[in-house]
Amino acid sequence: MNLSDLTLDRDGLIAAIECTDPAFNEALRQEAYRVKVEHIGTNVYLRGLIEISNICAKNCLYCGIRSGNTACQRYELSEEEVLASAKRAALQRYGSVVIQGGERTDSAFIKKITRLVKAIKALETKSDGGRPLGITLSLGEQPREVYQEWFDAGAHRYLLRIESSNPDLYRKIHPQDARHSYDRRIQALQDLKEMGWQAGTGAMIGLPYQTAGDMADDLLFYKQFDAPMIGMGPYNPNDETPLTLSGAAYPPDDVRLQLGLKMIALLRLLMPDINIASATALEVLHPRGRELGILAGANIIMPNVTPEEQMVKYNLYDRKTLLRDCPNPDEAHKGENHICKNCVFPFCTLGDNLKNGKITVGFGQWGDSKHFQSH
Ligand code: SAM
Ligand code: SF4
Repeated sequence: MNLSDLTLDRDGLIAAIECTDPAFNEALRQEAYRVKVEHIGTNVYLRGLIEISNICAKNCLYCGIRSGNTACQRYELSEEEVLASAKRAALQRYGSVVIQGGERTDSAFIKKITRLVKAIKALETKSDGGRPLGITLSLGEQPREVYQEWFDAGAHRYLLRIESSNPDLYRKIHPQDARHSYDRRIQALQDLKEMGWQAGTGAMIGLPYQTAGDMADDLLFYKQFDAPMIGMGPYNPNDETPLTLSGAAYPPDDVRLQLGLKMIALLRLLMPDINIASATALEVLHPRGRELGILAGANIIMPNVTPEEQMVKYNLYDRKTLLRDCPNPDEAHKGENHICKNCVFPFCTLGDNLKNGKITVGFGQWGDSKHFQSH
């Protein structure tokens, strides 16, 4: 297949997803990078990821912190720990934080998030113009009034992946009960959008039972939902989950990596001015996975600022806990592009691409989706 044959309708997307020709895949990534630069420039924006708790009321069949996993050691960060992580993100001029965790709807947890959002907004920052940190929440499905309470407190982006836009596949990877309803998930996304959140979504890539048609439909779902930001990434197995234990086949690491990069590239062509995250799950499959994602058209990286002792317990999938982000870039990073000398951490080592200008870093900026702003 040649790049000139590519069409962005369902059949064209399927053909591109199924194409294994390395020359086509490379040309596609280069074109996506070009389109990104044309529409939103070379900047990568940083979101310090705070994994607030691995306690979850749900039981998704693929997830290592599902409630049914008795091998998972549970934790919940204190308010002081969350604030210390946010301060670290501010000090490192990440511009924004993401608070992510298991899904809980008890009022103690909801009020805690409300207090934290307000407290983070009140922190002093080193961002441009002293702007407070931008806040993304990723805490699952919540009643409308809870979303409103958190929005009013000052959070403005919410990430709720649809996981798969195909209701049949969604059912295969979730327990069959009302708590894990596809329709409820769609409703929550609609609620967020109507309320004025920058509502991001996404799906896992390379799941058992998933076809090229499903992946094409995921891309078309993002377009139809008019999502301002997408956080999608490869499925990575966790050995303690029912999905892995079922023995259901899924593509090997190298194929999931290629698919993850290709989905970013195709999405960039479909939606040139949205924010696309280069997922941590890519880094598990390649030591520079997130950098490759940026070169394939993504523009967001989420360095992890969770305290290390708890970070290792947020084991959504195997090998995730081996990843580290630079613990001290502020002191080490001097000068325009803030590259640590000899730093081994992926976010610092966006490699030669930082030095040659293919990638620049929007330190201290919110980096909201241009697509959202233009609506
Ligand atoms: N509980 C919230 C939710 O599910 O929306 C937010 C936290 S949840 C851990 C964040 C994301 O982790 C999910 O949307 C899911 O796509 C991803 N995830 C969970 N298990 C995974 C796995 N085995 N491989 C890749 N991604 C996974
Ligand atoms: Fe809970 Fe989210 Fe994991 Fe599902 S994906 S079990 S809701 S943390």
